[in-house]
Amino acid sequence: MSALDAIRRHHTELTAIRRDLHAHPELGMAEHRTAAIVAEKLESWGIEVHRGVGGTGVVGVLRNGRGNRAIGLRADMDALPLEELNDVPYRSTVPGKMHACGHDGHTTMLLGAARYLAETRNFDGIVHFIFQPGEEGCGGALAMLEDGLFERFPCDQIFGMHNRPGMAVGEYAVRQGPTAAGGAFFDIHVAGKGAHGARPEASIDPVLASCHITAALQSIVSRNINPREAAVISVTKVVGGKAYNVIPETATISGTARFFSREVAQQIEEGLQRVAAGVAAGFGAVATLDWRLIFAPTVNDAEATEAIAAAAAELVGEARVARDKPPGMGSEDFSFMMEKVPGAYIHLGNGDGAMPHNPRYQFNDAAIPYGAALFARVVERGLRGDL
Ligand SMILES: [Zn+2]
Ligand SMILES: [Zn+2]
Repeated sequence: MSALDAIRRHHTELTAIRRDLHAHPELGMAEHRTAAIVAEKLESWGIEVHRGVGGTGVVGVLRNGRGNRAIGLRADMDALPLEELNDVPYRSTVPGKMHACGHDGHTTMLLGAARYLAETRNFDGIVHFIFQPGEEGCGGALAMLEDGLFERFPCDQIFGMHNRPGMAVGEYAVRQGPTAAGGAFFDIHVAGKGAHGARPEASIDPVLASCHITAALQSIVSRNINPREAAVISVTKVVGGKAYNVIPETATISGTARFFSREVAQQIEEGLQRVAAGVAAGFGAVATLDWRLIFAPTVNDAEATEAIAAAAAELVGEARVARDKPPGMGSEDFSFMMEKVPGAYIHLGNGDGAMPHNPRYQFNDAAIPYGAALFARVVERGLRGDL
């Protein structure tokens, strides 16, 4: 029996797990109930469980045969601060919280793979099931890494996946190299000198300086970054002053940057610092930059990409696996794990429907076997050994 058929026999049970997680969403780094369910399920299938890895993270360890090669499979568990607008029997029971990115589905798919692999044991080596907290900009991947994830659970290769609305269920898309952008948040604090709005000569106007800085920042991408590299700088917030007739002491410019390499990220950071400080100085003001890297660029390793694309093609046929998915400007914090261990991050079809982070988004339960079977086959193919 194929892995897909074997996992389909558990589809009803897996769907029940997914809907239960959906009804009880938990925000990043507070996935206590979710992590407890994950740990209990893994244990009930005879998998060694490590709780509290990087906060609410859970790692399952499954060994078979004598092989020492290890593959890590990763899913994210957190929900978003959003009010669900779907009218389904298993809609969120928690006001203001919702699984609007499908991490309920990702967690379920990895559980499905774990159960199948624990039952069939058709591999030689070690599988690490990595259930990560706080993917949505909450630092969950870094928290697990700082807690010694790959020192305690060394992996030769790691794999992750994300559902994708607009792509048919049973289709996959992946690409070698950069696949999702890195992302940073920044604040530029502009310090001037307050005065009466009618007496500008007594001020160093931080609002006017902020306007010039905001405009000048757009020259970093257009003049400093190599045109063959993609980069974004968006100023999304400019805050200064409260009254019509008071020139304030300070103003703050905030926004986000996106990039596909750490080098470009550094160029952007240096550019923000240089342009902000230089323009501010021209007005007699002082600008300081606070730069925070939230997501590293997600870069797929060539060998790992081929391994997961070939496993996907075996499941659904070559025609339903796109190997040239264009890189997206969105971000994914599995990137930090893939900076430590070569891996690949693949998209799987979620069918028609709302996009992630929308209050009408819904993970498609029909996709569960495709995600679970792909996780399972990438292990069976990668840890063949001489069984
Ligand atoms: Zn998301
Ligand atoms: Zn997501």
